[in-house]
Amino acid sequence: MPLPSTKLPTIKAIRAYSMGGAAAKIRGQGGGDYHDQGKDHWIDDHIATPMSKYKEYEQSRQSFGLNVLGTLVVEVEASDGTTGFAISTAGQVGCFIVEKHLNRFVEGKRVDQIKLIHDQMINATLFYSGGGGVVINTISCVDLALWDLYGKVIGLPVYKILGGAVRDEIHFYATGARPDLAQKMGFIGGKMPTHWSSAFGDEGIEKDVAMLADMRGRVGDDFWLMFDCWMSQDVNYATKMAHAAAPYKLKWMEECFPAADVESYRELKKNMPKGMLMTTGEHTGNLSAFKELSDAGVDILQPDVGWCGGITSLQEIAALAKAHGQLVVPHGSSVYSHHAVITFTNTPFSEFLMTAPKADHLRPQFDPILVGEPVPEGGIITAEQLDKPGFGVELNRDCPLERPYTH
Ligand SMILES: [Mg+2]
Repeated sequence: MPLPSTKLPTIKAIRAYSMGGAAAKIRGQGGGDYHDQGKDHWIDDHIATPMSKYKEYEQSRQSFGLNVLGTLVVEVEASDGTTGFAISTAGQVGCFIVEKHLNRFVEGKRVDQIKLIHDQMINATLFYSGGGGVVINTISCVDLALWDLYGKVIGLPVYKILGGAVRDEIHFYATGARPDLAQKMGFIGGKMPTHWSSAFGDEGIEKDVAMLADMRGRVGDDFWLMFDCWMSQDVNYATKMAHAAAPYKLKWMEECFPAADVESYRELKKNMPKGMLMTTGEHTGNLSAFKELSDAGVDILQPDVGWCGGITSLQEIAALAKAHGQLVVPHGSSVYSHHAVITFTNTPFSEFLMTAPKADHLRPQFDPILVGEPVPEGGIITAEQLDKPGFGVELNRDCPLERPYTH
């Protein structure tokens, strides 16, 4: 009797679409590139970055191009007519890579050959990926689309294919400008962006710690508060901030330095007040780089499943963290994270990114591009809510999608 897998369909076609970003006529679309929002949004309000030292780029991340890429949508179609899809941040650059390069590793394979395709995509792009960046975003998107397709073909949610849930529900903290409002919505904590970088010296520390003190006063002693520093600091500044923030029970300092600046992470970990956590990883795109961060003493690895190589890579990173007694709490990526983290024993909570402009109500992170994207009601998403084939979402075809390349 033949193995059941030999009856699985093959992948007939892969297609790549983009939305928003600098190449599009319509900007501010959100979707997979959630930084591509309209005006007056907390996510673009004087957030500290490595570009803050330049006056003309201090106020807005969009001003230096944070939203140039736009959304990438990858759609894969099986020989039985089933389709799967996923989204990430890569726009038209990603479309080119999918349609002109990665397509050869996907079309003709059986729908369950995800790890083989993943390994071929990673190795075939080493000469121009640099082990990360937009190339890995694109590979992640293909990987996620393949998991979605496989789930839809066999009629199972992705988390069940990965081995099943280890908990009944996922508890979330919220990232946004208003942890006090997130607390009222049932979240377990709130992570705020810092607004001042090391370019501003001690005054920057004072201003951000004053914001933390004010928020601590609003939320009481027990609610988690964290700082997201988006690569904007140096070791001395981060050390001083950590000590200034400790009296206000700051739970962690996130991404103080660029991903490759491993020695700074190692140094900061030594300097931090005991008990405060050091976290990073959303801009890291390969397993070896995660190992370096893990070795440097990062307490929580935070890969973005849409930027780190997809669920296939995220599983490897979670295992790496587990071996070192560390947590893996992915950078918020909605359903693509949910289906993975509910199977991980070292992910006790997860991130929800508030994309409502004032962070005052729940809005699906990738709005408007996914149909059926769940949001944490009372700070929780249950395993039951994920019980739909694949990632349990559909592509909103009313969005202004373009297909710039074909093959
Ligand atoms: Mg972050």
